[in-house]
Amino acid sequence: MRAFVIGNTAIDETISVEGRPGPGVSMLGRIVSRDLGGKGTNQAVVMARGGLETTLVSATGDDFRSATIREQLAEEPIDARLLFLPGISTDFSMVLTTPDGENSIVTTTEAAEALPLEVALEELSEAQPGDLLVMQGNLGAETTETLLKACRERGMVTAFNPSPLRPYFECLWPFIDIAFLNESESLSIAGCTGQEAAKALHAKGIRQVVLTAGTEGAMLSTRDGDCVHVPAVKAKAIDTTGAGDTFMGAALASAALRGGKLDKQSISHASAASALTVARRGTRRAFPSRDELAVIFAD
Ligand code: ATP
Repeated sequence: MRAFVIGNTAIDETISVEGRPGPGVSMLGRIVSRDLGGKGTNQAVVMARGGLETTLVSATGDDFRSATIREQLAEEPIDARLLFLPGISTDFSMVLTTPDGENSIVTTTEAAEALPLEVALEELSEAQPGDLLVMQGNLGAETTETLLKACRERGMVTAFNPSPLRPYFECLWPFIDIAFLNESESLSIAGCTGQEAAKALHAKGIRQVVLTAGTEGAMLSTRDGDCVHVPAVKAKAIDTTGAGDTFMGAALASAALRGGKLDKQSISHASAASALTVARRGTRRAFPSRDELAVIFAD
């Protein structure tokens, strides 16, 4: 099985602040990290480090951030297909991190939304039935819907992370096999969390639902009624940026490399992988290394 991630790529600027600024407030901050990020890239990096053959299709502008992204991606075991979009700003995220290890993130999506549908479809022409398509919420609505639909029709397995939340997600559910949601996404989309939320999402057509809940761990629910809960692995959290992306990338890679569907073992592997991410600052540099993932996946 091979994975195709069609998603965003960005530079994450992490600024440490004492608290979140309220309206009209100016406050001091300290840059603590500038790192490769973007949900699509994050998930692709973790899958590739985990040993799954992974192609990333993404777009950047033609500015200094684009050059940094290219340099950093070249260090990863990823087949990166990056499209240059002249006149467009490369996407970036401003991550405000507070002393409790929590973060608030603002992400731009100019480049991601400008990724042309026909380019993405062309890159997917190599995909085979059974291959994995992984998407998030940063691309344009039409591109996202058309790609999910086309890949499902082609017999690929589709995995979706509905973040950042968009109103158009409602029309996507019939084309999604696997969804990963955190608590706030679950509340917004299903109006509840836990098993009730999973049931509501299965009713929309999703075969496997993974609900993550930070230190409370995660739940995997399948449409035929199986449900497992896996506790979080204890960690001293200093920066939770990318915890959810690490979780999704590790879970999908673990399952794919064992040739099967998501199961309790892949969720346990994902919990161990994301516990490493939250204990380090940054995005790409915080993710588990190839060696660390090899140890986790061997368990
Ligand atoms: P983020 O937006 O910070 O990337 P998220 O909100 O998408 O994360 P969470 O549910 O917060 O996702 O976290 C995903 C998984 O990461 C959890 O299910 C858990 O396994 C792990 N995790 C998150 N926070 C912690 C923590 N403080 N200690 C240990 N594991 C954690």
